Amino acid sequence: MKPAAVHVVGGGLAGSEAAWQLASRGVPVILHEMRPVRRTEAHQTDSLAELVCSNSFRSDDREQNAVGLLHEELRRAGSLIMSVADRHQVPAGGALAVDRVGFSEAVSRAIADHPLISVTREEVAALPPAEWDSVIIATGPLTSAPLAESIRTLTGEDALAFFDAIAPIVHFDSIDMDVAWFQSRYDKSGPGGSGADYINCPMDKLQYDGFVDALLSGEQHKSHDWEHVPYFDGCLPIEVMAERGRETLRHGPMKPVGLTNRHKPTEKPYAVVQLRQDNALGTLFNMVGFQTRLRYAIQAGIFRMIPALEKAEFARLGGLHRNTFLNSPKLLDATLRLKAMPRLRFAGQITGCEGYVESAAVGLLAGRFAAAERLGEAVLAPPATTAFGAILGHITAGHLSTDEPGKRSFQPMNVNFGLFPPPAPLVREPGKRLSAVDKGKAKRRAITTRALADLDGWLGNVAVEAAE
Ligand SMILES: Cc1cc2nc3c(=O)[nH]c(=O)nc-3n(C[C@H](O)[C@H](O)[C@H](O)COP(=O)(O)OP(=O)(O)OC[C@H]3O[C@@H](n4cnc5c(N)ncnc54)[C@H](O)[C@@H]3O)c2cc1C
Repeated sequence: MKPAAVHVVGGGLAGSEAAWQLASRGVPVILHEMRPVRRTEAHQTDSLAELVCSNSFRSDDREQNAVGLLHEELRRAGSLIMSVADRHQVPAGGALAVDRVGFSEAVSRAIADHPLISVTREEVAALPPAEWDSVIIATGPLTSAPLAESIRTLTGEDALAFFDAIAPIVHFDSIDMDVAWFQSRYDKSGPGGSGADYINCPMDKLQYDGFVDALLSGEQHKSHDWEHVPYFDGCLPIEVMAERGRETLRHGPMKPVGLTNRHKPTEKPYAVVQLRQDNALGTLFNMVGFQTRLRYAIQAGIFRMIPALEKAEFARLGGLHRNTFLNSPKLLDATLRLKAMPRLRFAGQITGCEGYVESAAVGLLAGRFAAAERLGEAVLAPPATTAFGAILGHITAGHLSTDEPGKRSFQPMNVNFGLFPPPAPLVREPGKRLSAVDKGKAKRRAITTRALADLDGWLGNVAVEAAE
């Protein structure tokens, strides 16, 4: 007997991939996409899987780059999005970029031609009706307002549509701990803290003045009209704070009080930049209060003016735009189901991943999970050592606690090596010394080799249907 249909709401990167995964396993799908009946602020066409901005899927290096690894995992798992991207590739050096129109049209065609998928063009403007017993909601960062409001009411969260204030995130091993030190302000331990939870980067007056000048002269992102939303006073971009007065930052996120420089105990810093642990592994730290809308091209240069961050590697740069995402670590279970209503599963950027490739990957996982559930099979999450597992771990078990009342600390994120468990220590060949660069490469190779071996084990030998 044919299984009952699963409903997928939203035909973007995640929804299209989820529908394909379900149908590839013999599960019928009804895909609900609101365009062209209702438009979003950013989409321009009626095509499924439209790329709203850049046409790049970023690096295709599966050995040295986390998103390149995710590409490879998607390919091995029979992803529609990746197979169409590969066929519509345009020259872009080491990146995988696509002909955006050809790409979206080909995804739309593959979905329309699949005998088990039917597409309805309608807005789902409230919680899906009770008779839809298995639903994947993949409505993205621009989820329509009525549906967002219904989800907000159901989850009891204060907000769902956020003005996405993003502070940069730094890889711990790129911070110079000969300059910075661990300490919480006034050594307060608080609930779950140790009294030494923050990394502190000191600045003298000259360094502070130079930094403020750089912020004031830095070019800001040109925003779309729909992004013109008022700033929350609690999370002003740092360059806006600097505009309000040269001393504002020193009395705000860069205040030096309650801290003693471990390396120079007698010297009082003029200002201090603090970083807070961002993931359970302790491999990533975010710059506290450093949300910014400075252009990406200049951010790294300005932040590397901070002593101890001269060689900082950024897992994510700062940004500020409208976004809609769940507080997933609190609200979703390990297979992306809403704890409060398990017939609803979420996928794509609304879960708190970020990027085209990550959204497609979470769509793939949601599709596989929903198919297994429908077919009465075991629902198995991918190993934490894979890129799939790393991104799923960020979503379902990401950073929850926050010491700032009224704010939550879970933020959307691209896949990056900081989300993977560290590999086994490198075994050095006797008499051979590796440079720092070679060590970094060897570490990344160890992570990606382990990931693909573990992925193959997870995928087993289940045959997957390739797109035409
Ligand atoms: C302005 C902007 C620019 C971005 N630029 C980039 C970039 O350059 N590179 C990058 O990697 N990522 C970018 N992103 C982030 C993100 O990767 C993309 O938004 C990505 O498309 C998310 O995939 P998704 O499937 O979750 O959502 P989407 O691709 O947005 O798909 C969601 C779909 O759901 C539909 N929908 C919404 N509400 C409803 C409803 N109630 N009923 C039925 N259908 C509905 C929408 O019409 C849409 O087709 C950008 C995001 C934004 C907002």
